[in-house]
Amino acid sequence: MKNTVSGNGNGRHAEIAGAGFAGLTAAAALARRGWTVRVHEQGPELREQGAGIVLWHNSLKVLQAIGAYDQALADSMTPPYYETRVQGASVSHEHFDGLPWRTMTRPHLHKTLLDAALRAGAEIHTGSRVVSADPRGTVTLASGETLTADLVVGADGVKSQVRDAIGFTQDRWKTRDGITRFLVPRHKDELGPGEWDNVIDFWNLEPRYLRVLYVPCNDRELYIALGAPAADEQGSRTPIDLDLWTSVFPELTPVLRSAAKAADPRYYGYQTTVVDEWSAGVVALVGDAAHAMCPALAQGAGCAMANAYTLAVAASEAPDGEIEESLVRWGELERPITDRCQQRSADYAATRGMAQGNQFTVENLETARYDPTDPDRHSVSA
Ligand SMILES: Cc1cc2nc3c(=O)[nH]c(=O)nc-3n(C[C@H](O)[C@H](O)[C@H](O)COP(=O)(O)OP(=O)(O)OC[C@H]3O[C@@H](n4cnc5c(N)ncnc54)[C@H](O)[C@@H]3O)c2cc1C
Repeated sequence: MKNTVSGNGNGRHAEIAGAGFAGLTAAAALARRGWTVRVHEQGPELREQGAGIVLWHNSLKVLQAIGAYDQALADSMTPPYYETRVQGASVSHEHFDGLPWRTMTRPHLHKTLLDAALRAGAEIHTGSRVVSADPRGTVTLASGETLTADLVVGADGVKSQVRDAIGFTQDRWKTRDGITRFLVPRHKDELGPGEWDNVIDFWNLEPRYLRVLYVPCNDRELYIALGAPAADEQGSRTPIDLDLWTSVFPELTPVLRSAAKAADPRYYGYQTTVVDEWSAGVVALVGDAAHAMCPALAQGAGCAMANAYTLAVAASEAPDGEIEESLVRWGELERPITDRCQQRSADYAATRGMAQGNQFTVENLETARYDPTDPDRHSVSA
């Protein structure tokens, strides 16, 4: 796809690797500030393959700031409660004291961000793979072409080529558990009486760890994530072992039957990536390229969108010739809150502590409550 709209121009140009949630957010936010923006997506088409997603206040504020909020809301929902059940017994109902949150399908969020980026004037190239980047402000494509920019954004996901080509020092590891994700029909009538509009986190800890995260996304679609240790060959098998899953979670039989018929399911191990810096010269990393995290607190995309947005603001506000310094400052200011969220998510993944219920404490919702669009967010109160 190629869509070019000439912007009013602040004279600056950005090249972005990756048209996922982070890259599209950065594209929309930069283009709305007058940058010319070119996004390179290695895939042959612009689409999101995952299932569903939970977004919180931080990313909902970003959607508002890039003019995408109404579209996001149109086909999404706020479930009444986030419920946790252990061995079939309900242990908590959380509603976050009115903190805004929303569930939706990932294709819906992706389309919403894509539309916002295109409306703002970003140019998007599919089948365009970035193979390397240089801190002085170039990207090289698989075609051999080298492009120059005032800002290069590595938003190319957990296996980031931009990050690895530049040689950011990094630590990456996988946790013992992982998940297979599905988008299935709601099957509300067949599920029978119950609180089926809630997000429900079903934990089975004995005699083996198996988990189903049940997330209604709208009236029609349900996201379910089936968790099992990577070492559990039967639990992590795809297509899923229907007899196993229905024997442990019989109340979910109608939706598990649909999941068993899904085409091409994939089991994902939880990954964490920590890089020493978020920028090198005028190259900045955002999203999973910079801080892939375990999904325990459902904050990976939220942090990706928040950091992509604040990056765009910081680079736009930088005086001429000072983008490099502005990126260093951006990392110093924005990184600590993401680091804390990443660490908490890793700890929860390691301990499976979310199974206790009532784990969305004030501390654990720190990132969710953050407002990346508030210009005073870093002011120290007296
Ligand atoms: C099981 C699971 C559940 C999750 N649930 C939630 C949740 O509820 N809430 C939440 O906030 N987060 C959640 N997350 C985290 C969230 O999915 C990620 O943090 C988010 O998708 C990261 O977005 P991204 O744009 O950085 O990367 P990606 O989504 O990976 O996008 C990267 C894009 O770059 C492209 N690309 C890659 N390499 C190149 C290249 N060399 N050149 C050009 N293009 C390239 C890819 O094709 C892709 O389109 C979850 C994650 C998992 C694994």
